[in-house]
Amino acid sequence: MITSIQQLKKHLTLTEEELSWKESPNSLPILITDYYMSLMDKTDINDPLRRQCVPTAAENRTAGLEDPDPLAEVEHSPSSRFIHRYKNRIALLTTDVCAQYCRHCFRRRFTGNLMGPLTEEDIRDCCSYLEKHPEIKEILLTGGDVLTLSDSFLHHLISCLRKASPALVIRICTRMVAVNPDRITDSLISVFKSFPEAPFYLMTQFNHPRELTESAVKATAKFIDAGIPAMNQSVLLRGVNDNADTLEELCNSLVFNRIKPYYLFQGDLVTGTETFRVPLEKGLALEKELRKRLSGLAMPLYAADLPQGGGKVPLCGSYIEGKDERGWIFRTSDNQKRIYPDPQE
Ligand SMILES: *Cc1c(COP(=O)(O)O)cnc(C)c1O
Ligand code: SF4
Repeated sequence: MITSIQQLKKHLTLTEEELSWKESPNSLPILITDYYMSLMDKTDINDPLRRQCVPTAAENRTAGLEDPDPLAEVEHSPSSRFIHRYKNRIALLTTDVCAQYCRHCFRRRFTGNLMGPLTEEDIRDCCSYLEKHPEIKEILLTGGDVLTLSDSFLHHLISCLRKASPALVIRICTRMVAVNPDRITDSLISVFKSFPEAPFYLMTQFNHPRELTESAVKATAKFIDAGIPAMNQSVLLRGVNDNADTLEELCNSLVFNRIKPYYLFQGDLVTGTETFRVPLEKGLALEKELRKRLSGLAMPLYAADLPQGGGKVPLCGSYIEGKDERGWIFRTSDNQKRIYPDPQE
């Protein structure tokens, strides 16, 4: 495990930009797993894996309109540990600890502050909220990374949630399979298997095809073989995956390994992350190109989580050009015109 610049220097020849990163109250700690380090091309200063975990001075700069909490999550939090933005689902911040800290993390206001797991009181608060709000059908176990919690803690947490709301669909949101696949043990899987009453979904974060190693794929397969479908949420990251070939390979490889590409997120306006954001025009062009190259199954939804808590919206160019007396006027993906009339009665 690597936790400091000093240790990083033993593995990599650091660039000026990396060496001048400064720890600050707003910054995420350094934490890189040995496993992830082993995947890196140590001779390439622009390695897409290196970019995701080695900090640079760019993190210490604040670009216009950047904010520590651009999604206004704090405002939408009935307690410090959960966010209720959409009527039928909530996000539970189970811990602020991760197995590895991503330099592009959008929840850095919370992540890596060494607060640790939620307390018994936090669990009780969440459960009584669930009991009072039967409209909540899904819960996202997020953070931080929920799989940094121990098997016994997870078992306890899930029993409480299931008791409060027996049919609750639980999403396990984690980057663990990509950064420390050894954590996915049979005993971890048996925790989920012991709650067969309602479904779990695994929500992974693979951002680059090289993260889909044999061990990462095997770790994910343990969930899928246990009846837990896997969905992937990637972040569109400059210098990591902002080209059609890389995204095409990533999405096809996900589908091949039974992981459905779910979202491709435009970078949020989080303090210190401008270096990772891709201009929207480029993102839209990538989306258009991917839609031509990928099957419907392999195509993720390109989306932005709008500033000031505006919520998630899909991003794509319009295929509808207008409407005349004949019906709706469409443009096909290879730019031909088609008319689609509404029903006449
Ligand atoms: C993204 C998010 C969800 C889940 O949204 P889906 O579009 O259903 O994946 C739920 N709650 C919060 C606070 C979120 O940010
Ligand atoms: S695993 Fe998730 S919460 Fe943790 S640093 Fe990465 S993006 Fe942030």
